[in-house]
Amino acid sequence: CGIVGYVGGQSALDVVLAGLKRLEYRGYDSAGVAVLADGGLAAAKKAGKLGNLEKELADRPLPTGGTGIGHTRWATHGGPTDANAHPHLDNAGRVSVVHNGIIENFAALRAELAERGHELASETDTEVVAHLLAESFSSCGDLAEAMRQVCRRLEGAFTLVAVHADAPDVVVGARRNSPLVVGVGEEEAFLASDVAAFIAHTREAIELGQDQVVEARRDGVTVTDFEGAPAEVRPYHVDWDA
Ligand code: GLU
Repeated sequence: CGIVGYVGGQSALDVVLAGLKRLEYRGYDSAGVAVLADGGLAAAKKAGKLGNLEKELADRPLPTGGTGIGHTRWATHGGPTDANAHPHLDNAGRVSVVHNGIIENFAALRAELAERGHELASETDTEVVAHLLAESFSSCGDLAEAMRQVCRRLEGAFTLVAVHADAPDVVVGARRNSPLVVGVGEEEAFLASDVAAFIAHTREAIELGQDQVVEARRDGVTVTDFEGAPAEVRPYHVDWDA
């Protein structure tokens, strides 16, 4: 239901949690975060309010890093459990993805992944994306390209934001029939389902168009369509009060 991604010089976990709080008004049943640190990926997720996740993070702190993603879930496929909460990971625990919306063709994709030996850990429509991204990344080595390849296979409505431990300073996002906005700061960038998640940090925003993929790094963002053709970006200034 709510999505926040961050890359920059601040603690990604702090920025993402604060952003998720700003999106709480939308309602949700579970929450989770993932950060890249020390060459790896660390995640935490809990059913219930953000307070449950914060308690989990106090008991089992994540390492600090400057790249991370977070999600508040409103379950559509699979009940509101810890296992079904986002982020979802691939079997190697290297890629992590959050999703708003519904992947309509998830059952066929799950069956295909199971045939190739993937073990799915949740009942969600979302988890297939983590496994497909891991496969595509291992063949192309570029997270934005992997996201484009995966999006071409998806049907339905989705805002997706993902990170990969082998692409430490990159956050990628994609959208179809569901919103995704980019916040461009000084040596930092934000991806979110709603500008409310990042206006405490920057007012410079880019709204992603239908069927577009964004690659965000500290020094800027690149937007393409699902085929990889550069997209025209429309930057705007968010001038409403926080
Ligand atoms: N369909 C996904 C799920 O049930 C995403 C739900 C959402 O938009 O929060 O996990």
